[in-house]
Amino acid sequence: MKFTDFNLVEALHEGVEAIGFEKPTPIQEQAIPAILDEKDVIACAQTGTGKTAAYVLPVINFAYNNVDKKGIKALVIAPTRELAIQIDKQIEGFAYFAPVGSKAVFGGGSGDSWDEQKNALVKGTDIIVGTPGRLIAHLIMGYVDMSALRYLILDEADRMLDMGFYEDIMKIISYLPEQRQNLMFSATMPPKIRDMAKKILKDPVEINISVSKTAKGILQGAYMVYDDYKIALVKGLIAGKEEKLPSILIFSSTKVNVKRIEQELKKLNFSLGSIHSDLEQSERETVLRKFSNRQIQVLVATDIVSRGIDIENISMVINYDVPQDPEDYIHRVGRTARAESKGIAITFVNDADMAKFSRIEKLLGEPIKQARLPESIGKGPEYNPNAKEKFGNRKNGKFKKKVKKS
Ligand code: ADP
Ligand code: MG
Repeated sequence: MKFTDFNLVEALHEGVEAIGFEKPTPIQEQAIPAILDEKDVIACAQTGTGKTAAYVLPVINFAYNNVDKKGIKALVIAPTRELAIQIDKQIEGFAYFAPVGSKAVFGGGSGDSWDEQKNALVKGTDIIVGTPGRLIAHLIMGYVDMSALRYLILDEADRMLDMGFYEDIMKIISYLPEQRQNLMFSATMPPKIRDMAKKILKDPVEINISVSKTAKGILQGAYMVYDDYKIALVKGLIAGKEEKLPSILIFSSTKVNVKRIEQELKKLNFSLGSIHSDLEQSERETVLRKFSNRQIQVLVATDIVSRGIDIENISMVINYDVPQDPEDYIHRVGRTARAESKGIAITFVNDADMAKFSRIEKLLGEPIKQARLPESIGKGPEYNPNAKEKFGNRKNGKFKKKVKKS
């Protein structure tokens, strides 16, 4: 199948060509015709499979065909500022040859950015991409006219629910016209997503590409290792490999750990940066830009960047600890081997993380290959797949996560 098989305006085909997409991905093959057919859609596909273009292309197409009609035509809700910015950039890219505008609306900027967002909303920019909190802040001011809205898109719906945005999303929807087309995208399809879909979507087309499996082309491995030896192990894995591994993403669950890892690695003279919720928005953007431009080799991050953020060609992902939710493993590891390139994902497992690790293997449906520690580090703990959960504050059988709202 080719992009030209879709009934899209010529300007969009030019945009796709300029961006360099040769053929649609499976999710695009299925979602684009359904959206053009005016259906509600719920789509589940793993990270890195091209979900953004799957909704962005038909939406720009509609805006193009209705260029004479004033007003906001589509609202994309996304969980984080970074993702909103990234989606907005993709829209700009595809719409390069089309008179269609878009604006990212998110919190954390200066007063100027508030005014700019307000102007875009009042003017009725074709496509608005926003984070829930900031969208509500504008909506309650009463100056946003949503009567021309045709599309509501929830991107990374699973993540938004994890971050506690359910109420916010429903509140935003209360400002939208009843008659509209709803599109929901998610990397995973837990029951709570199905429930939300039932509330929001009308008679949706369901697209399910492959549930909860990491992308092909990722070489996955794990080390059983005690905490005290993790820094030495990182060093052993990446030292002197600037050419072979030009961009390395290290994940840790807490910002305290992220800061500590950063400090330790700085002492070892790696070129690196970090990203976590204590940083200002502008600092986060600068670090991300440097990392994607390969000005820094290593980025140490909390899960802020584990979902949705698309940085090209990450050569290796290191999970410094095992993520709390098995689904998060898929998201973290999905940062490498985007769009069918090759990548490596290594996970460090200490004694306390074994139960979590075995849940990931269960979700993947196969064991992750274990590597032997270098001699200099010696022996790590013995893997016990039946280990009991060691700690964590369980609530209703689910880990309670503390996530900062955007
Ligand atoms: P997802 O939202 O499913 O995680 P993205 O939409 O962020 O995935 O796309 C992942 C990467 O794949 C991006 O770099 C994007 O530019 C690229 N991509 C998407 N669709 C195609 C395509 N049809 N051909 C080539 N690359 C693509
Ligand atoms: Mg996405």
